[in-house]
Amino acid sequence: MPKHRLNFLKTLIHVAIPLLLTSVIFFAKAPPDPALAPPAPAPPCRPDALAAPDDDRLRARHVPILLYHLVSPLDVATSVTAEAFEAQMRLLRDAGYASVSVDALVAAAEGRGMLPERPVAITFDDGWACQYTVAAPILERYGFHATFYLVTGVIGAGRSFLSWAQCRELVAAGHGIGSHSLDHPFLTQLAPAARERELVESKRRLEQALGIEVNTLAYPYGAFDGATVALARKAGYLDAVAVHPGRRQADPCFALERIPVPHGESLDRFRASLGLSRVPASATLGPCAKPSSPASCPS
Ligand SMILES: [Zn+2]
Repeated sequence: MPKHRLNFLKTLIHVAIPLLLTSVIFFAKAPPDPALAPPAPAPPCRPDALAAPDDDRLRARHVPILLYHLVSPLDVATSVTAEAFEAQMRLLRDAGYASVSVDALVAAAEGRGMLPERPVAITFDDGWACQYTVAAPILERYGFHATFYLVTGVIGAGRSFLSWAQCRELVAAGHGIGSHSLDHPFLTQLAPAARERELVESKRRLEQALGIEVNTLAYPYGAFDGATVALARKAGYLDAVAVHPGRRQADPCFALERIPVPHGESLDRFRASLGLSRVPASATLGPCAKPSSPASCPS
């Protein structure tokens, strides 16, 4: 063998091969380069978030939220008769609807819960006594729950309004409770401090008296603006219902649109208001009258 080739072999044996072995041992033991390592698994989601498919977040935006006031024989725009209310609940049941609370609806919209196949939210404003004496038994008969928005200043103020004991029974029966302010003012016309008091104090009184968390608000007369939404958020509400035109607002969970069910509405029009038929929905109804108005629930 020529000498230069012999020297090359010696170099290979004494230098290159140990260097190669050393490299193999080093890289076998070295910690993996984070840049080259496969991505770490994502932190586990909250179980309730996992339970909510995106589909429900989208569906939640289109769930009808019905708005009632009085369920009585009174011939006023904000009253439906017991017979009409029962026919409407029967229609909902026969059409396969399941009731959800407003809070559950918002939870689904935010990916924190699931919706039934055909959800509807049923709401009552003002805290009239007939909501307990007339509407609640009909709701129970058809397996529905509602969300009752209470004006705390009139609870227990005579036979026309719910008593605290009746409110507690509604809670025990599984219904939801929301604030409808202390005194039913136009919140948008109040000074900031008075507006904040209406939101904070009504929530506090309901929570204290009923032993529940109150997360939802109904604006009196459906009137709200950006400052009212900001104060409602600050007060700890998670959502708020209006009447019209909720979906155009920037903060949809604080401007949920409701469908008022007016006096004398035919079943065809009720069905249309839910999108179940092409019959035009009836003319719109004003948000609500001040609860101290002469209208009252016959006992
Ligand atoms: Zn009202």
